[in-house]
Amino acid sequence: MHEFSVAQHIIEIALQSAKEHHVDHISSVEVEIGQAAGVVTEALEFAWESAVRDTALQNAALLIKEIPVSVVCRSCGMQYDPQEIFDLCPRCGDMNPDIIRGKELRVSAIIT
Ligand SMILES: [Zn+2]
Repeated sequence: MHEFSVAQHIIEIALQSAKEHHVDHISSVEVEIGQAAGVVTEALEFAWESAVRDTALQNAALLIKEIPVSVVCRSCGMQYDPQEIFDLCPRCGDMNPDIIRGKELRVSAIIT
């Protein structure tokens, strides 16, 4: 399952960061996930539960911030926020989007 490896990756980053900052307790980990990042948040939450078991993050909550998608039309330069990733450009009707936001997948905060 893809989300399980994403959860493991988040755990590695959080543990590494805790070590660097000499923190021994993490209460929650905040992640930013773009809606075009290819991660199903419900599946990630589910994966998190099992991935943190027997780690220092066992009781840490995963806080997911979803980042909406924003694109620029390659045909006419219009910037818009599509509801669906394959929405047509509202100005020229082309489907030629360049995703400028919404592919994020990063740990944004570690809360002790
Ligand atoms: Zn356009």
